[in-house]
Amino acid sequence: MSDASTYRTRYAPTPSGAMHLGHARTALVAWLRARTAGGRVVMRIEDLDPPRVKPGSEASILRDHEWLGLDWDEGPIRQSERFDRYAEVLDALRARGRVYPCTCTRKELQEAAAQAPHGEEPVYAGTCRAHPSHPDRSPAWRFAIGETFDTRGPGFVDVLQGPRPGTAGDPILRRSDGLFAYPLAVVVDDHDQAITEVVRGDDLIAATSKQLALYDALGWSRPDFLHVPLVLGPDGTRLAKRHGAVGVADYRDAGWSPERVLGWLAWSLGLADDDAPIDRDTLRERFDLARVRSGAVTPPSP
Ligand code: GLU
Ligand code: ZN
Repeated sequence: MSDASTYRTRYAPTPSGAMHLGHARTALVAWLRARTAGGRVVMRIEDLDPPRVKPGSEASILRDHEWLGLDWDEGPIRQSERFDRYAEVLDALRARGRVYPCTCTRKELQEAAAQAPHGEEPVYAGTCRAHPSHPDRSPAWRFAIGETFDTRGPGFVDVLQGPRPGTAGDPILRRSDGLFAYPLAVVVDDHDQAITEVVRGDDLIAATSKQLALYDALGWSRPDFLHVPLVLGPDGTRLAKRHGAVGVADYRDAGWSPERVLGWLAWSLGLADDDAPIDRDTLRERFDLARVRSGAVTPPSP
């Protein structure tokens, strides 16, 4: 556990659309962790993949955080302004012999992944470990987690969810089109921004082990990780547009107050007994991480 004076976390929105209730719920937990620890929050814009960036999305996401009272102390810091730094760290890994060129196409990877044991996340088969399968193609760069391609990254203890096993599969750090990949950027940013606790959605819990292996390879100390259960739609899948109007702005436009949205978020997390409107400072006073529960919650109609 990080002590009060040094606690640092971040919001890390991808500006590819509107802020929805799931993002707001994760941001609320990050805010509560930081504000109860007397720590700081960094606003990081994860615009790593320019083709996915939607004009106006960053501004609307920042406005929605502000409207909810989920303030921050530093930033916004944009990943698109840090490509030189990612290149530098990739070079450092290369110098340590920890990256290798991979020339598998998406189709080849899918075919190899289809043979993954049922129910397990498809794992890169290590095809290019010794030498690239097609040296004539322009390569992606993969991180060698260990000596062999099926080496697992370290297990860890999630702050909320307890012990988690390590996962295998050498991740791509730089794509064949030259863009940097998320596992590299997020580790470099969390390190450089001195993040002590990563608060983020459950969908990234399986990627964490590989990121920990990157910290180790770089000789960097690891932050703690707290994965917040996702908001699920009524059908049990991750909340998305097809479930209807689930953007924070949809509720605002329908006349909801920030307190009413916060009240629903708090109730859905298990932090309040009902979904009555509540202000952020009351939530902060009552915050008890042990009450956070997972499970599907049906978003209210705006
Ligand atoms: N940018 C990711 C998202 O919007 C979050 C990544 C992270 O928190 O590490 O879902
Ligand atoms: Zn390959």
